[in-house]
Amino acid sequence: MTKALAMISGGLDSILAAKLIKDQGIEVIGICFKSHFFGPQNAYKMAEQIDIPIKVIDFSKDHLEMVKNPKHGYGKNMNPCIDCHAMMMNYCGSKLLSEFDADFIITGEVLNQRPMSQTKASLDIVKNESGFSEKILRPLCAKNLLPTEMEKSGMVDRERLLDISGRSRARQMELAKLFNINDYPSPAGGCKLTDPSFSNRLKELVKNNKGDICGREVELLKLGRHFRISENAKIISARTEVEVNSLKDLLNSNDIIFMAKDFNGSMTVIVGEPSEEEIEFAAKVTGRYSKGKDEENITVKYGNFDEPLEKFIEIKPFSDDQLIKYLIK
Ligand code: SF4
Repeated sequence: MTKALAMISGGLDSILAAKLIKDQGIEVIGICFKSHFFGPQNAYKMAEQIDIPIKVIDFSKDHLEMVKNPKHGYGKNMNPCIDCHAMMMNYCGSKLLSEFDADFIITGEVLNQRPMSQTKASLDIVKNESGFSEKILRPLCAKNLLPTEMEKSGMVDRERLLDISGRSRARQMELAKLFNINDYPSPAGGCKLTDPSFSNRLKELVKNNKGDICGREVELLKLGRHFRISENAKIISARTEVEVNSLKDLLNSNDIIFMAKDFNGSMTVIVGEPSEEEIEFAAKVTGRYSKGKDEENITVKYGNFDEPLEKFIEIKPFSDDQLIKYLIK
């Protein structure tokens, strides 16, 4: 039986593409990639609606390396969609086709749907850079493109593929109705790299980080308020109890945490190699986000993560005006 690997992003288009091929009597296995910026949650929900299995591929490390310096640059935010798609296709072609004994790869790309990454030229770049151009089929817009080997050989019926083009979602929504797919997220909604505020934080990290950026630093960007206070140190102030707990999962014994001694308030963390002045700075941030923010002076306790907070410092809490220029928005 002919078998296809469908790259499932968790959005509507990729699932429609998979469904079109499944309806041709071809076995379809969903492949969902996991990185620091997107995961499989939506893919599971979508795959269930067309009854295909999902295999999750964690390529976080390689993907992060690519995101730092993508060959074809970024989209509107920090989303390197051309390189990202090509990387996914390369994984499918080089590793997964043989592992699953599959014949070709399906993607949900639509010609001219996105201004940078889905023009005809971009689709060609993605295909060529993947290294497996002859194995890639784009069922939603196949009729706008030259026939692939799969169509020429009769493995796939070209007549039952589509010619969708442009930014309108009308045809995809009609198809979703036809296929009884009712629960789907907004396009690209699941990728943090398309989120402007997350992208600003990541851009700042890429620009200022002197060493190699690791997964932990990227995960930290998802939590709290971030303040860059020097080349060597950054402050994170948790906003909620949930953020405090998530932060604790990411901290290590080099990180220093701060809490107001006599007032409720959130936890502050300083990561990097802080000087004495920077410790004081973090204490003043802690004061600002505590119930003692309007006091003349308060005591802040601090210490390395996982150790008792046995050091104390007296500070006057920062005002918002003093802090704003350090905030990474
Ligand atoms: S939106 Fe995100 S997941 Fe999708 S191709 Fe672009 S960078 Fe990759």
